[in-house]
Parts: sequence; C-alpha cells; structure tokens
Amino acid sequence: MSGVRTHCPYCALQCGMLLQGVRDEVTVDADPTFPVNQGGLCVKGWSAAAVLTHPDRLRTPLVRDESGALVPASWDAALERVARRFQAVQRQYGPNAVGVFGGGSLTNEKAYLLGKFARVALGTANVDYNGRFCMASAATAASQAFGVDRGLPFPLDDIPQAKTILLAGGNVAETMPPIMRYFEAQQVNGGTLIVADPRRSATAQWAGLHLPLKPGSDIVLANGLLHVLVRDRLVDEAYIGARTRGFDDVRRLVATYWPERVERLTGVPEAMLIDAAHRLGRAPSAMILTARGPEQQAQGVNNVLAYINVALALGAVGRPFCGYGSLTGQGNGQGGREHGQKADQLPGYRRIDDPAARRHLAAVWRVPEDTIPGPGKSAFELLDSIGQESGVRALFVIGSNIVVSAPDARRVERRLEALDFLVVADFFLSETAQVADVVLPSAQWAEEDGTMTNLEGRVILRRRAFDPPEGIRSDLAMLTALAERLGRRSHFPSGDPRDVFDELRRASAGGPADYSGITYERIDANDGVFWPCSAADHPGTPRLFGDAFPTSDGRARFHAVAHRPPAEDRDDDHPLYLTTGRLMAHYQSGTQTRRIAALQEVAPEPVAEMHPTAARVAGVSDGQRVTLSTRRGTATFKVKVTRAIRDDTVFVPFHWAGAQSINRLTHAALDPVSGMPEFKVCAVRAIADTGETAE
Ligand code: SF4
Repeated sequence: MSGVRTHCPYCALQCGMLLQGVRDEVTVDADPTFPVNQGGLCVKGWSAAAVLTHPDRLRTPLVRDESGALVPASWDAALERVARRFQAVQRQYGPNAVGVFGGGSLTNEKAYLLGKFARVALGTANVDYNGRFCMASAATAASQAFGVDRGLPFPLDDIPQAKTILLAGGNVAETMPPIMRYFEAQQVNGGTLIVADPRRSATAQWAGLHLPLKPGSDIVLANGLLHVLVRDRLVDEAYIGARTRGFDDVRRLVATYWPERVERLTGVPEAMLIDAAHRLGRAPSAMILTARGPEQQAQGVNNVLAYINVALALGAVGRPFCGYGSLTGQGNGQGGREHGQKADQLPGYRRIDDPAARRHLAAVWRVPEDTIPGPGKSAFELLDSIGQESGVRALFVIGSNIVVSAPDARRVERRLEALDFLVVADFFLSETAQVADVVLPSAQWAEEDGTMTNLEGRVILRRRAFDPPEGIRSDLAMLTALAERLGRRSHFPSGDPRDVFDELRRASAGGPADYSGITYERIDANDGVFWPCSAADHPGTPRLFGDAFPTSDGRARFHAVAHRPPAEDRDDDHPLYLTTGRLMAHYQSGTQTRRIAALQEVAPEPVAEMHPTAARVAGVSDGQRVTLSTRRGTATFKVKVTRAIRDDTVFVPFHWAGAQSINRLTHAALDPVSGMPEFKVCAVRAIADTGETAE
C-alpha cells in the first residue's frame, strides 16, 4: 500500500484515506485498512483533493486598505496590524473586548493552542467556537447524566450487535454514508433500526420503523416511550436501583405521557409508539442515538436528557452493544470540545471555574493562576454582544464561517458590521472573511500534521502529505507568531504540532478527557487510541461506564424533563414549521464544498422540501419557487414536493450564503444551559414566489 495514510477533511467519521502523488496532482483513495470506514468514502471524501489545489485558495494575507478593498500584504505587516489593533482595543475597552471564535474542524493541537492563546496571550474570557451550534446540547446532557461527555461512549463496532437501535434526528445515510455498513450489519444480524424524524429521510426510509414526530416534540416522544416501558414492566429495576439516581421523579412525570396524549402532541400514532417501546424494551441489547434533530433546539439539553432517561431505564448504559450515544457531526467536533476553546472550559474537559483545574493549567502554562480569565460568553452571546455595552469590539475567527452557520444570520451580519476590527483565518475568502479587516491564509488538512478525535472518542492522526503552497502558514505557526507580537513568546515556545500535542497531553493529564498516554507513535501503531488514556501503558478506553459513572457517587442521574412548546410555535401568520439540515454533497457552511464542481453538480442550490398538501396551500408545484418568511427574514427557494416530510413542516439545507441562506430565517432562541440555538424549529409562512426580490 503506497501513499500517505491520512483522514478526510470533513465529518466526524474521519474516514481513513490514502493520498497519492505530488501536491498539484494529488489523488485520493480510500484506506482499506482503517477500521472505521474499511475502504468506504462518501462523495465529499472522494473529491477532497480538489480543495487543496483549488484556484480560489488564499495564497497571501490580505488587509483592508484606505479605499476599503482587501489587498495582499506580507505576513509581517498583517500580523503587526492584528497585534496593534487587538492591543489598542484592549487598552481602551479592557481584555474581554477582544473575542476569539474557533471551530469544530480544527485539530486538537489548534483547538488547544487557540484556547491558550485567548487566555494567555490576549487574556480574554471571550473564547468560544462553532461546536456550540452543533454538539453542545448532547455534550451538556451527557455530562449531567453520566459525569462525562464522549459522543459515543462505545466503539462503532458495537452497533451490529445491538438488537434494537433508536436514532433520533439523524440522517446518516446521507451525511456520513460509510457508517451505514454498521447498520447494515445490524440488520443482517436480525436487528431493527427505528428512526425518529419529521422527514422520511434516506435513513428513515431504510429503517425498519419511522416515527414521524412533529418538530420540537422530542421530549414528548421520549417520555411517551418511557411511559410504555414502565407500564408494561420493561424497565430494568435492578440496574436502576444499583447504578442510577432520580428515577422516582421520572417515573411520576412520565405517567402523564400516555400514548394517546403523545400521539396528539407528536403526531406519532399510538400503535407505532407502543411498537417502538416494545422493540426497545424486549431487546437483549438496546441502543439510543441522538443527532442534531433533538440537539439543535432551545431545549436541546432536555431533549437529550429525556432520551438518556430511556436508555438508563432500559439498563442499557455501560453494557456492551447497548447504551446512549450522540453522533457528532463536525470533523473534530469531539476533540474540539475537549481542550479549551469553549468559554467555560480548560483543556482535558476541565471546568474553568474549578480551582484545581485552574491550578493545574497555571502550572502547565507557567502563568499565575489568577491571570487565567473566568467563564466567557457562549458563541451566539459573544456574537450578539458586538456593538453592545461591555460587548466584544474586535474578533478573531479561525476555521468558522459564522455569516452562514449562525442562526438569525442577518442579525449576526449586522453585528459584525459594528466591530472595530475583524480578523479571519481560513483557506478561502469565505463570506465571513469577505467582511474582515485582515484575512490570514491557513494551511489545509494534508499540509500539516495534527490529531483529530472521531465520533467514537478515537484519537487519530492526520498526516502531512506535502508542504502548503508558498505564502501559506499553518494556524499553529500563525498563533505563535501573533503571541510573540503580543509579548507572550516565552509561553508559546513552538508551533510544531508534536510539541503542541505534548503540551496538550500534560494539560489534559488527570482531566476527564485525559490524553496524557497518547502519542503520535501509539496512534500510528493502533489505528487510533480511545480516550481516556492516562499512561504510556494504558490501553485506552473504547467502552466507558462498565463498572461506574464518573460522578461523585459512581451513579448516573435521571432528569425529570417536561415538554415545553418550541420558542416560536406555529400560528395563523406562520402556519408551518421550518427545519434545517445537511445534504450528502455539502459540508457545514459550504466554504469548501460549494467550490467543488463535482459536489455542486449533485446539489447546486438549496431546495425546500414540502409535502403536497403544504405545497398546494402555498400555491406551488414541484420545481417552482416558494418564498419562505419568518419573523427574521424572507428567502426564495426552488421546491421539491415530496410525501417524505410531514405536511406541517418545510425542510431547507443550510449550506448556502446570501439570498440562499436559510439561516437568515432561523431563530436564535438559546438553550439556557448549553447555549445551543433553535435551528431545528421555528414558524414559517410559505407562498408561491411572486418574482419580487428576496430580502
Ligand atoms: Fe467519511 Fe465523513 Fe469524509 Fe464522507 S465526509 S468521506 S463520511 S469522513
């Protein structure tokens, strides 16, 4: 096998791939030896080489000149301008006036160094990242229920042996197709997949049972399942008694979620609910998975807690081939939330308000403990503070295209316009980079080493195949150079990924996400190492919670969570639900995939999916255009009329910008604990396009 073994630049499956050839003629092949994908890739992975050689790539820093144009500049001039402006803003408004916004696609090394850069070089509390828009609700819920958050606390290899799996709000057949081999093996073994989704998605069509729930009704569905399980004596009382706390409150609460009421609130027929509950309750091995459907809501944490309640009541958590897991989406959505680019967190998944954690990091970073800032603003709060009193005045964005990916995107665009200074580091001139004062060109996945942590908690190594083109620097080099200009060079001795990873290992030692026993060599030799791994001779931990949970008493926690309507429900003016999601051919804000011809050919524009009844009421037919309006904005889309969606719901993918941006319509109501916005449900009006210009 020749070529460089590395991993896909996109989603959290982190498929193994082989890069062959020289930089400008590189080709991608699937790595048949990497155990996760075993030779499978999706269309995004197969076309990934094109982003490396794309003519749109930024090749030099850009700075905005006096005429308002972005013009090429040397690295020295660009970094000098960034350092001077950050210092000026902080002198005038205080350290927290500079915000840092990271991303869930950054390597662990970058996420770690970015968090340290914010706290040690800038001294700001305001650092957060776009994972707050993806996995934050599941992460918070898992921490509350189990004492630690690792998306899947078991390996993907457990899936084929699970007898019944409930997947809530995930369309993996489209978003990460190679994972389907695990579900196919489960089916061959006689297992059943149940999918809960307002759409009969590709995954739901493939599943044995589809629960077509109303957007925003996950808690009702989960509590209804548990009602039936309790009623029909299918809960595991011995497990509940020995390994959990809090079930009595939950038992009392779910007594009020009888099937008839659940049908009324969710739209899932009573018989279907009972069938699903019985399949879960009678399975020797039951698994519950959630994805962005229930998670990306203003009650995302409670939605996930309700599903976790079901898994705990079944006695499934901590047993092989069973349990609860969240399917992480972004490439390093897992590692990116562990090592300190979150507003409330220090590396190793430590809390920033924990005195012991602060002491540990102060020693690793060689700074006085009291100079480490406290908790900052969560992602949307940080963006929304711009232009407000005590808000952020200058912003450093790295690996994120917030103009497209943030909710209520027009509001975010207006906030960015109010900034004194915006810096963006990216591969391309993204929609966010286009409005920056300084743009810094970043090296890409195949041009630098770095570790990623896939959706199983497996730490893997993305290997460098060749150097970046002339004029482009790695983000690690950029951060260390900037730290030097801010007078903190001695705290950032090296921008080499191995050196940064070694420091990350020390920083994470003893924390919930302990990487201290993981080395590049061990990853190489073992196709990745599962965290926690606390010593060189520790084997890693593919499966968590076997004997105990990392809580104060070793037990998991039930949480009694009652249904609340969505932040914005349907009414006469806006009679439909709007929900958003991803397509197979595109990734997140589309900065990369919208530039790839092969992917654009598959999905050239966002298309609104509508049920024939909703389309008839709106006055549109298949292929015509519909204008969607919410209280935030209006946009027009081509329509696909399909029976594979509820008749009260419209679905639009979110990968596009400008007039095609569905996030200009979404709602920025936030989960009070996780800070997750309400991407998955808001009220919308649909009428046939009159040809007037969209807002
Ligand atoms: Fe694999 Fe995800 Fe890349 Fe597709 S996008 S090849 S599923 S890692």
